[in-house]
Amino acid sequence: VSLVSEDLEVPSHGRLLDIIRSTGPVSRIELAERTGLTRASVSNIVRVLLERGFVDEVGLADSRGGKRRTMLAISPAARFGIGIHLKADQITYVVTNMAGGMVGRQQGRGARDQSPAIVVARIAHETETLIDKLGLPPAAVVGIGIVAPGPIDYAAGKISGLPTLVDWSEYPLREELSQATGRPVVVDKDATAAAIGEFWGGRVDVPLSFACLYMEQGIGSGIVVDGSAFRGSASNAGEIGHVSLDFRGPPCRCGNRGCLENFASPVAVVRNARASGFPLGPPEEISDSQAFDEIARLAVNHDPAARKLIEDSAAYVAEGAVSLVNMTDLDLVVLAGPGFAIAGAIYVEFIRDALNERAFARKTHGVDVKLSTTSRDAAAVGASALVLQRVLAPRA
Ligand SMILES: [Zn+2]
Repeated sequence: VSLVSEDLEVPSHGRLLDIIRSTGPVSRIELAERTGLTRASVSNIVRVLLERGFVDEVGLADSRGGKRRTMLAISPAARFGIGIHLKADQITYVVTNMAGGMVGRQQGRGARDQSPAIVVARIAHETETLIDKLGLPPAAVVGIGIVAPGPIDYAAGKISGLPTLVDWSEYPLREELSQATGRPVVVDKDATAAAIGEFWGGRVDVPLSFACLYMEQGIGSGIVVDGSAFRGSASNAGEIGHVSLDFRGPPCRCGNRGCLENFASPVAVVRNARASGFPLGPPEEISDSQAFDEIARLAVNHDPAARKLIEDSAAYVAEGAVSLVNMTDLDLVVLAGPGFAIAGAIYVEFIRDALNERAFARKTHGVDVKLSTTSRDAAAVGASALVLQRVLAPRA
């Protein structure tokens, strides 16, 4: 299955589509001004976008004193992407349109305790059932983005980061899922996907570079530079959770010692809570993510012990954010993922203060901190954005 069946071939095509998608109705002249392309080039590219049905002409806008201009807008229902967040305990499926809007969502049993081949057959079946249930023309679905916690091998289309899913590290996930569904498939890391999802959904203005801190069981980040994911060699860039704060500290699952994740992640918060006698159900009855949500809920409602646990975590995450900003010199950090869904406002406050006080370039420029609007589903929504971008608006 070709991944490039609908590629617009030329990166400037994708760039124009990105601007039309993220800024809303825009004229050809404004597109030329924003991209530096000639008006003739813009007209040629727009003709391709119109022919493929990706954009529509949406009437005329008054321009100051001159001719009235035809405006262009994205045609949201022209194409759809499938985003899948693969985890041991649960698999989340979302369908988004070309504007990044969610048009469908479902959850299925996780990948634990079954061989990759059986899980992939089930994913293929559940995906096609969802497309069918939503009544989408199968040909309008451009492909599938499937994401998991890292490390992953982007070029090989494999995941190898799930300690609970050891069989997957040699399994050719991209090829097998593509074969099972007959659709293009992109395999990437959850945090990278969340970052591209923010960008593609128009929640972050283009052209813009920013970092997305992603917190679920662990802590990662995705870095977007001028609309493209910064992946590094195999799409494992941004592993801020495995920056060591104490190289003689406790061993981490990654092989390093004293990693940020061991002090700040939801799993660490729950471990600290249990160690301090904080009242939570027994571990066999309440999962770490449920326990963390409970602590976060109490923290938001001013329970002092819960507040202290979350603030300790937020202080560590803020240190990670300072390092992330110092390494990248970016001026926007978006917080996404289930870990920020309830007590995100507390994290925003700690991160904002830390960056104002301690970021290396704080006297040169400020750094904005925002909460994602799709916190819980950020990785799945982002996975869909990844395949939409890869197929419709490829970057270089
Ligand atoms: Zn680590």
